[in-house]
Amino acid sequence: MKSVKKPRNDIFDDLYEEFKLIRDDKRSFNRKYRIEESECFFRAINKIYRLYGYLSILYMIENHDEFPTCKIMNKEIIDLYENHIVRGRGRNIYDELKSLPDIDLCPFCNNRPVATLDHYLPKSNYTTYAIIPNNLVGCCEACNTVKGNQFSNKADEQLFHPYYDDFDAVRWLYATVKEGDAPSINFFVKINDSLYVDLEKRVIKNFEVFNLNKLYCILSAQELSGIVGQLKRINERNKIKRLLWDRYDSERQNDMNHWKTALYEALYKNDWYCSGGYMKFKRI
Ligand SMILES: [Zn+2]
Repeated sequence: MKSVKKPRNDIFDDLYEEFKLIRDDKRSFNRKYRIEESECFFRAINKIYRLYGYLSILYMIENHDEFPTCKIMNKEIIDLYENHIVRGRGRNIYDELKSLPDIDLCPFCNNRPVATLDHYLPKSNYTTYAIIPNNLVGCCEACNTVKGNQFSNKADEQLFHPYYDDFDAVRWLYATVKEGDAPSINFFVKINDSLYVDLEKRVIKNFEVFNLNKLYCILSAQELSGIVGQLKRINERNKIKRLLWDRYDSERQNDMNHWKTALYEALYKNDWYCSGGYMKFKRI
């Protein structure tokens, strides 16, 4: 779970200007007029969203559907998103938001490329927020699908919001080695500091929602199979430990909550693995 820089402050203004240029057609009774009439409403909820995000209280935000000063119907808001942001005049805004994550990596799994925008507040339940730029977060298809319409109204179950949350203040990802003829790696979340009990609950919740243990186990299996040949050539427990520690240290300096940091720490600390157990991880 990686923070992403926030969209620029005036991005909403640019998006709404695009909406105001949409022409009416036979099916959209007075839509152009109603878009102009609703501008104050959307400006207000854009400010509310940014304030609640900044204060980390988006779990308390109200659903403003059918608010009297919003003259645009819910199905029209969805149409604005699908036909004027994903496709149409606002596509430049869509692409700009999609390009915010660092090196195009999905901020939820930190492993797959960004492919789409996720509605942090689901558009099914918070339709008026479906066109608020700060509610749109670039992520991979898999995380977008698995998150679906999930949203919690409880503080300690809030999903990670890449624009407003930073989960990297402390170390939270660890791994263990299951020894034996069918060995495996298991990843888990733990924060060794009682000051961060609430954060730990949130990280665990997100770890489960985004199915990260399964993803990291698959990636580990490839990694472990790939280093068997090198470890076999070394074939000396202490030298193997030293090599694995070096990799752990290098990964830790790059990202203390990366799955490779957790993996190499678990490996260098495990005597069974360093004494030949590594050969059991060779894929056929
Ligand atoms: Zn992802």
